[in-house]
Amino acid sequence: MSYYVLDEYDVIVIGAGHAGCEAGLAAARMGMKTLMLSINLESIAMMACNPSVGGTGKGHLVCEIDALGGEMGINIDKAFIQSKMLNTAKGPAVHSLRAQADKEEYHREMKKTLESQDNLDIKQGEAVDLIIENNKVNGVVLKTGSAYRANAVILATGTFLRGRIFIGEKSYASGPNGLSASVELADSLKRHGLLMRRFKTGTPARALGKTLNYGKMIEQCGDEEIVPFSFMNDDLQKDQVSCWLTYTNENTHNVIRDNFSRSALFGGQIEGIGPRYCPSIEDKVNRFSDKERHQLFIEPEGLTTDEVYIQGMSTSMPEDAQVAFYRTIAGLENVKIVRPAYAIEYDCIDPLELKMTLEHKKIEGLYCAGQFNGSSGYEEAAAQGLIAGMNAVLKLNGKEPFLLNRAEAYIGVLIDDLVTKGTNEPYRIMTSRAEYRLILRQDNADIRLTEKSYRAGLATEERYRKFEKNREAVERELVRLKKSYVLPSKINGFLERNNSTLLQNKTTLAELIKRPELNYELLGEIDPDRPKLSKHGITQLEVKIKYEGYIVKQLQQVEKFKKLENRKLLGDFDYNQVDGLRIEARQKLNQTKPISIGQASRISGVSPADINVLLIYFEKQRRKK
Ligand SMILES: Cc1cc2nc3c(=O)[nH]c(=O)nc-3n(C[C@H](O)[C@H](O)[C@H](O)COP(=O)(O)OP(=O)(O)OC[C@H]3O[C@@H](n4cnc5c(N)ncnc54)[C@H](O)[C@@H]3O)c2cc1C
Repeated sequence: MSYYVLDEYDVIVIGAGHAGCEAGLAAARMGMKTLMLSINLESIAMMACNPSVGGTGKGHLVCEIDALGGEMGINIDKAFIQSKMLNTAKGPAVHSLRAQADKEEYHREMKKTLESQDNLDIKQGEAVDLIIENNKVNGVVLKTGSAYRANAVILATGTFLRGRIFIGEKSYASGPNGLSASVELADSLKRHGLLMRRFKTGTPARALGKTLNYGKMIEQCGDEEIVPFSFMNDDLQKDQVSCWLTYTNENTHNVIRDNFSRSALFGGQIEGIGPRYCPSIEDKVNRFSDKERHQLFIEPEGLTTDEVYIQGMSTSMPEDAQVAFYRTIAGLENVKIVRPAYAIEYDCIDPLELKMTLEHKKIEGLYCAGQFNGSSGYEEAAAQGLIAGMNAVLKLNGKEPFLLNRAEAYIGVLIDDLVTKGTNEPYRIMTSRAEYRLILRQDNADIRLTEKSYRAGLATEERYRKFEKNREAVERELVRLKKSYVLPSKINGFLERNNSTLLQNKTTLAELIKRPELNYELLGEIDPDRPKLSKHGITQLEVKIKYEGYIVKQLQQVEKFKKLENRKLLGDFDYNQVDGLRIEARQKLNQTKPISIGQASRISGVSPADINVLLIYFEKQRRKK
């Protein structure tokens, strides 16, 4: 393919979705001359599916992205229209923030941020090929015949690669939301030997709000007290919109059953593998046939549109069936569909081909992020984009890679699961995937990550100083509360008023905060001269005190984990030379090239016995040396 080189960059990002935006901003903010390409600049940070950011596990990712100096948390704090902390009845490990977004505003704010970022150029253009010489990437060729040279390229193409839309019996080549698919690049990646998979996902219809009867639904309001996603924001006040809850019924299920054969999913047209945790409605009706009803939420798409998103009702049924079953639902009897539901199939890479830095194992300087890596979700994409962007820069600067392990961050769990275990369906994060979730909470993401990112060159001085100030204030207050004794005579009246057991002997304020019926705020009545803490600081303080015992226990488990994680392995070691290793283990170890014994132990097909063989082998090598 002939091309002419227009310019040279340090880093080129193909894609301006949730992954591409974080990758491009990270690279530019760390001083690299960066180019970000998108087939259509209107798809910058496009929310192709649900109009929300966060939720169980995903909220943790957003807080971590923010703590590292990424943009998603700041952007949703600008564009949210409702905010809710989920799972508050459970422990702090699973408290998850979820914010409804004004999709247009989210796009506009992110585009403004990209346009005003130094070192970053954004360009509308379709990449059709990579320039690869001697297994090293050196640039990108565009559909126009122009090309750009760079020492690192980040692939963040989402659901566009060889995108194919399915609505009933009909299917056609397209990206999401009527945007064009990216076919030539898909062909070129295969030509360059990348191992590709075919995945699929689906989205529900969008309806016109004024055609719904909200009187037949249950209003879902946001929280009165809004917790910002970004640690850079202390307080957020905004009028919030409501979402609405309604349910399918037997009529809905009957219409769907009558049309099973016309669903692209059941009709067998779709070859791509879909997300188990985001099933289509026909999949739910089929799999859970005993369920009388399935809940669905009506979510506004924004403040300047009357379009609403029908959450929980994605489908690849033909349009007539869609209208028929949507109109059986309470409140949707007269619904007008403005965008039909559809399923989309797309190419993505097998993430086992990637290192923990998200660099490709066989093509130097080529990084991959987002849905392209087999994950699903804005938050998962953004997290990978950030890590890929940071590592592309650190490698170009000859510096140590930026790695997060499973005990440091949900981002560490996400990337380790993808590149060590691989995935057979679009991977979404969940709190149950994190074995150390009590210490991987939303509230302490800054303590876990900000300093590490500041030292690596991404988190700003302002963010680091703000974090430090809060950390010191919380530590000081913790010490004060543990040293501040109160006498029964002084506070038993207060305890009685708060239905808390009266004191017999003096105790500390910290001990009182441990009581489930008491908290730091309440104790303000008997402890007026306390220092001022931010709301975020108060949350951190309370969790540290109330869950101290559990946290200590978990930290002991982490110490064990670190022992194996710190047993480093050579990236190019040939496992065929280790006698006693089973053939399957040799193959899997040589394919994955784990960076530690810990990672090796998580590869499927590598047994604990194989790990013992490895430990003995390396111990013998060490002694010989
Ligand atoms: C139909 C549908 C349903 C979904 N359902 C869910 C769901 O239920 N749950 C969930 O969590 N997530 C869902 N998602 C996924 C969610 O939208 C994605 O996870 C998220 O957008 C991925 O972000 P990304 O940055 O990887 O890719 P995207 O946001 O898709 O961005 C890709 C970017 O790459 C650009 N691009 C692609 N090819 C080229 C090229 N050759 N040259 C230049 N630019 C290129 C595009 O223009 C775009 O800017 C769904 C998405 C779709 C489309």
